[in-house]
Amino acid sequence: MRDVIIIGSGPAGLTAAIYTARANLAPLVIAGMEQGGQITLTDDLENYPGFPDGVKGFELYQILEKQAQRFGAEMLYDVVTQVDLKGSAKKVKTADKEFTAKAVIIATGSTPKKLNILGEKEYTGKGVSYCATCDGFFYTGKHVAVIGGGNSALDEGLFLTRFADRVTIIHRRDRLRADAILQERAFQNEKIEFIWDTVVEVVAGDKVVTGLKLRNVKTQETTDFAVDGVFVFVGHFPNVELFKDQIKLDDAGYIDTDNRTFTNIAGVFACGDVQDNIYRQAITAAGTGCQSAIEAEKYIAALEGQSYPGK
Ligand code: NAP
Repeated sequence: MRDVIIIGSGPAGLTAAIYTARANLAPLVIAGMEQGGQITLTDDLENYPGFPDGVKGFELYQILEKQAQRFGAEMLYDVVTQVDLKGSAKKVKTADKEFTAKAVIIATGSTPKKLNILGEKEYTGKGVSYCATCDGFFYTGKHVAVIGGGNSALDEGLFLTRFADRVTIIHRRDRLRADAILQERAFQNEKIEFIWDTVVEVVAGDKVVTGLKLRNVKTQETTDFAVDGVFVFVGHFPNVELFKDQIKLDDAGYIDTDNRTFTNIAGVFACGDVQDNIYRQAITAAGTGCQSAIEAEKYIAALEGQSYPGK
């Protein structure tokens, strides 16, 4: 039986790996479908402490992974398919392997929300995208729409101006949710324009996206709007599917943790975006990853009848 299994490899999971590895718990990190998590979808992280010139999302993932491996964390690039967390030996399965551990740290993050409108699914990968870093280059010299009014929409909208000639940000209200600094940059950028109080009802196309059907929520007027691509940034939902029958969720559907990252099951801790509906930053994910690791260490020490410093 292993000491600790960490599910997820974003900043939360990898920080938990660094701390548990340094505590000689030889953690197994099961990386999941999107290695590195959502930071790898971000071009530049400008607010992660310690990087005054910013850091590429993918680079930060590589740095964190290397740091965890240096202290003995084992990476498994696989996807967890089933868990049984109730007993004292926690079971974690992938398609062809089964592991048991004394403690499990859940760091499965969250996934971008979809608009769930006509044409969205059909044209995903053919003009509908959820990742500017991945797909921005394809829109060099073109016109793209960005849906949303939060930090992601503005951050990614600004990034898209490196390629596209014109970026139209379409927001359902007349006020942005994004940080003031991003709003200022977007308002000053000549390539960016805004359409306010407007929702997208249909993604239209002919093999690839050709336009959007828009509805003004105040006047109810509908218009056809020609674009070459559409980037959707309308928030996230937590990746709880594997756990929802065993672990208590909060009202918003996130894993319910206390301020020490405990879940309702002894020996199971949760950190990062899967349990955070408020901050959802790479640095807060890393912070809670550290908390989970320290709590897992304490839990294992107590199981073995040892005292833990500072307990
Ligand atoms: P978010 O803050 O939840 O914003 C989602 C945006 O999408 C909101 O403006 C929302 O409108 C809009 N929206 C939601 N559902 C919609 C729908 N069905 N149709 C049209 N619009 C819809 O999500 P986020 O921007 O992805 O950010 C997530 C977290 O990551 C936040 O905590 C954010 O601060 C953080 N983040 C930070 C940075 C950074 O610091 N540079 C960058 C990216 C993300 P309303 O405003 O009307 O609700």
